[in-house]
Amino acid sequence: MVDLRGCNAECRAEFLLLHIKNMPVTSGSDSGFSLFGSINDQLSAGKRGFDGLVKRVMDPKVQADELGDLYAVVAKTAGASCKDKGGITLCTTNAPLFGRGGTTIGDTYVTAPGDPDLVDAPKLRHERKHVKQWEKRGIKFAFDYYKEGLLDPCQNAYEKAAGFADGDYWQCVP
Ligand SMILES: [Zn+2]
Repeated sequence: MVDLRGCNAECRAEFLLLHIKNMPVTSGSDSGFSLFGSINDQLSAGKRGFDGLVKRVMDPKVQADELGDLYAVVAKTAGASCKDKGGITLCTTNAPLFGRGGTTIGDTYVTAPGDPDLVDAPKLRHERKHVKQWEKRGIKFAFDYYKEGLLDPCQNAYEKAAGFADGDYWQCVP
């Protein structure tokens, strides 16, 4: 069985990518996400060879951590400096790795350097709520968030839940 102890962020990101790449993708799953459907199909079909691994890879919290690590690695590779801010890894970079004022993937928030509004306490509180959303839903959160709409944050239920004011979405505050 694969043991991820002693495996650093780069190693775990590589591990996740390798396994995602090797998972057969099927269509017609009722989960709405074919990769998950495929894993479920394999488990119910009794293919137990890597069930421990699958359970781990299927765990939304593990997915959020792995995706966050991967995002931080990509950001660092692009020259970002990253630090732990209590439940969230804050990376700042001028590289075009984020949307709007910043993007949180898993437990990593990447934003531009030099703007205090992007890293102040309310903003980090807002982004930590996105971390919780990732941890609850795993990879699927990317699709769930997308379905809520990328263009108008005011119409996005996850932005509303994370707090419009904390997120500096003042145009959405009634
Ligand atoms: Zn937000």
